This record gives sequence, structure tokens and C-alpha cells, in this order.
Amino acid sequence: MKSESKSKERQLVLDGVGVAPGIAIGPAHVVESGALNVPEYRVTKAEVADEKARFKAAIEGSRSQIERLKGKTKGMPPAVAEDLGYLLEAHLQMLTGSRLVRGVEERIADGRINAEAAVQAEISEIARGFAELPDAYMAARAQDVREVGARLIRNLTETPYQAFQRLPEGAVIVADEVTPADTALMDPKMIAGFATVMGGAEGHTGIMARSLELPAVLGVPDLTRSVSSGDMVIVDGLIGRVVVNPDAPMLRRYKERQNSLERERQRLGELRDLPAVTRDETHIELHANLELPREIELAVNAGAEGIGLLRTEFMFMNRETPPDENEQYESMRGLVEGMGGRPVTIRTLDVGGEKLAYSLGDHIADAVNPALGLRAIRLSLKQQRLLETQIAAILRAGAHGPVRILLPMISTVGEVRQVRDVVAKVVRRLKRRRARLAKQVPPIGVMIEVPGAALAADAIGRVADFFAIGTNDLTMYTLAIDRADEQVAHLFNPLHPAVLRLIQFSAEAAFRARIPISVCGEMAGDPRYTALLLGLGVRELSMAAANLPRVKQRVRQIDLMAATQRAQMIMDQADSRRIAVLLDDFNTFA
Ligand code: PEP
Ligand code: MG
Repeated sequence: MKSESKSKERQLVLDGVGVAPGIAIGPAHVVESGALNVPEYRVTKAEVADEKARFKAAIEGSRSQIERLKGKTKGMPPAVAEDLGYLLEAHLQMLTGSRLVRGVEERIADGRINAEAAVQAEISEIARGFAELPDAYMAARAQDVREVGARLIRNLTETPYQAFQRLPEGAVIVADEVTPADTALMDPKMIAGFATVMGGAEGHTGIMARSLELPAVLGVPDLTRSVSSGDMVIVDGLIGRVVVNPDAPMLRRYKERQNSLERERQRLGELRDLPAVTRDETHIELHANLELPREIELAVNAGAEGIGLLRTEFMFMNRETPPDENEQYESMRGLVEGMGGRPVTIRTLDVGGEKLAYSLGDHIADAVNPALGLRAIRLSLKQQRLLETQIAAILRAGAHGPVRILLPMISTVGEVRQVRDVVAKVVRRLKRRRARLAKQVPPIGVMIEVPGAALAADAIGRVADFFAIGTNDLTMYTLAIDRADEQVAHLFNPLHPAVLRLIQFSAEAAFRARIPISVCGEMAGDPRYTALLLGLGVRELSMAAANLPRVKQRVRQIDLMAATQRAQMIMDQADSRRIAVLLDDFNTFA
């Protein structure tokens, strides 16, 4: 139902950060803050008992999940286990005859609303009460209440992985925030695009949107205050603009742009079977980055020569428990077979930071500074069972075609050695089980995405079989700019000389160690940077499948000698604006 338009039907143009190119035009679906995807409907008097029974079942389900989580704390260090134990106990108490339970039951009975909506309303009220308390400890309890509420709602909806599906077809999602896990639930056949108040271009929400080819604009300050569900909106993901209630000429212009983008897409599609070679016949390997197994079709259709980065963390999102070895193996096997003999680079889990997977426990979200905390390989080495399971699945998938293992956030040689020990142990165990494996243990590569790893690339190159430069994190950590924060998004600049020097140094170290090096951060998928990366010695690029044709087109225009000379000239510069001019000039004329 269309509520009264906040923009009073007058055209309103809002600017933000364009993160996934393309244009979406459709009715807005505004997601209220903190109430992601909670269905709300009335129930009849006769249905009240059923609704209460559903609520009771959700409580039981939540209790047993929390008990299971409590069981898992046993393997953790004592201090962590104790803290987590208290927290989970508090959550259990909230589910037993508490004000929360009574309040929800009353709302169902008196307000005649469905259980999800009743939980949502009750939780908001209790959390608000807590948050207003002057005592910081008590105020922080508001978060616990919200977590318990979210768990109840996940159990009530029973379809936590189907979110965003009850929307009108072709809707444009408008929200304060969309997490990477939320984005993984979006079906591009149903959703036209999305826009949010929070988020920057290089965060994983933006990356997912590009992978799914969903037009998206993030970081639009007044967005949710200016749009109502049902308003017609245009999302221009290229220039980062949202138009609310467009007038007729604006709508016509955007429809024409949509058509011309579609024509361009078809034209670029014709490049699919042409080789990615420079003008002087040097072959550049173009691979695809994948977050979800369902994207494989896009990678194959784009003519990817392999998967250069599989972000396995998305397999752990939007579910209560992590996938076991067999489930992981089956998904990976599907990908390996789908790629028909082309290599698949599987990165071990990179949760933490802004990528949260609640199936691994809520405690990961509690880091003092998530970007510098128990992220990626650090988590895997701490919870080695998790790593062993993943490695076992990768090794078994390797029996069906070439795979490579990639390690995220490495900063020391010791971490690589520890993983090698784990791999050797898992190989022994699988052989005892007589599991089918490839003859050779897959190559083990290292993401160069921490400045310290780039500077230590010579030493790391001695223990790694290949490097993959993650320019997203490398830029973030070098410049101290959160890649997902819209307030500093304009400062995120991979052309900063410090970032380029780290890329150059890593490429030279790989050359000295005689190991392959690729770039798999967002820089690899932007044709603006192609000549510079090739000029710095990189011969393999991995990107969202949608970017592949445009990058291939650019590769085919480049003369490697000229690109190398321009890269050298750029590396002599101290100012990123001057670097941008030199690069853009080269892109225009060479
Ligand atoms: C990177 O950091 O550049 C990268 C490719 O990894 P992710 O974006 O998944 O952190
Ligand atoms: Mg990274």
C-alpha cells in the first residue's frame, strides 16, 4: 500500500556514491531501520491461538540454538568462553517468561498482529527503554534485546534466506543500511536495484552489487527521510544519483540511457570469444571473482579463464549453523565442474570486519576495531577446526579439476607456514579416509592486502606459490580509510603513490620469487587502471564477471611497452592528482 509520499510527489534529486553501474527504475520499497524484512499483517481472532503457537515454537527453536552455541563455547579460551557463556545465559533468560515474552503475546492477542511484527514492536520498545538508561552497562543491554529479537524473527519467518522476495517485482530497495549478507539474498530477477544511507564504494555490499549486476547507490544522506514505499525512483549507479518521483522528461532521459546501456552490453558481449591479448600479442589472463555459486553462469558467459577469487565467506552467511565439510565440498565441486578444467582459486574464510556470518557466533561482531581484529586468516588459525573443514572440502573439490588455495589477510611468513602444516595434516587424514584427491596438493597463495605483507613480499614469496593483490584492503590499510564508510569514501584512492609503490614492490617480489601474481581487488575490474597494472608487471586480473568485457576491450588496445613506460613515469610522481592526469591522458590517447 502506498503511504503518503514524503517527497509530496515532487521530483527530488539526491546524490551519493555510485557503486554498481546501471540504471534501475521502479517503485521504492523502504526498509525501516532495524526491521529488515519483517512481514506485518493482521490476524483474525480465530488465528490468535495459532499465532501464539508459532511464537512459542520460535522460542523453543531459539532456545535450542542458544544451547548449541553454549556447547560450542567449551572449545574456546576460558576468558572468551566465560564472557560468551554469560551473554548466552542472559539471552536464554529473556526467552523465559520475561517481559519480552509476555509483551509479544499481548500484542498478538490485543493488537491482532502477526508474531514477527509483535516481536519487532516489543523489541523496539524494550531496547529504547534500555538505551535511555544513564548506566552504560544497562544501555548496552539494548543490543542484547535486539539480538534476541532478531533470532526470534529469523525462526518465525523460517525463510531467512528468502528475504527480499516478498517485494513487488522490479522494486528498488531503499534502506539505511544493506549488509553484504543482505545483498547476497537479493535476486536480480526480482529486484531492480537499491540505495542506502550508509556505505562506501569499496565495501562488500558494493562489491556484491557489482557482481550481481544490481544498480546501486550508497551513502545518500537524506535518503530514507525523503522516500516513501511506492514512490517511483531512479537509481543511477554510475554517477551515484537517486531521483525520487522523476518528472516526465527526466524519466524519458533515463529510459533512453537504460536502452543505450543495454545496447552497449550486447556489443561488449561480442568480445566474449576474442582473446585477451595486448596489441603486441601478450596474453593477459582475465579471471572472475565470485561470491555465490549461483554467479558461475555469469563468469562462464563473460568468458572468464578461471575463478581468480572465490569469497567463501558468503557460504557462511544468512544461516544459523556453518556448512559442514560435505556441504562445502558439494558447492565447491559444482564450481570446479562448472569451470570445466579452468582453475578455481578458493580463498579461505575472510569473515570479520564488515563481513559478518552469524553462523560462526555473534562474538565476531564485538571486536573493538573489527578491521584490525580477529579477521580472516587470524580467525581460521584460532578456530582451526573451521580451517581444517574448509581445507578438506577444497582438497576434495580438487579431485574434480584444478583448484588453488588462497589465504586472506596474511601478514607474516609464520601464518603461511601454519596453514601449510594444517594442509599437510588434512591431506594425511583424507588419505586415511581414502577420500578422492588430486595427485598434487593445490598451490597455496597469499593475498597481499596488508601493507606489511607487501613490504615483506620477498620473504612471503619464499613460502607462497602465488600472490593475489587485494587492492581494496591494501588501499584501506595503507591510507587508514574505511572502505565501507561513506564519510571518507571520497578519500579512498588506489592511485595514492603509497598504494602504487606497494603494488609495484609486490609485483617485483613475485617476479624475483618466480611466482605468478594477480590483482583481484576492485582496481582489476576498472578499465581505467588496466594499463597501469600491466605496466607494473601484472599479467593476471580477476574481477566481477560484469566488468570482464570492458577490461578485455581495454587490454586489446594496450601496447605493453608504452604502458610500462607510462607506469615508470607515474611511479616518479608524488601527487595522486598528477598521477590521475598522466593515467587518464594515457587512456585517452594510447
Ligand atoms: C581486497 O581486499 O582487495 C580483496 C580482493 O578482498 P575483499 O574485497 O574480499 O576483502
Ligand atoms: Mg580483502
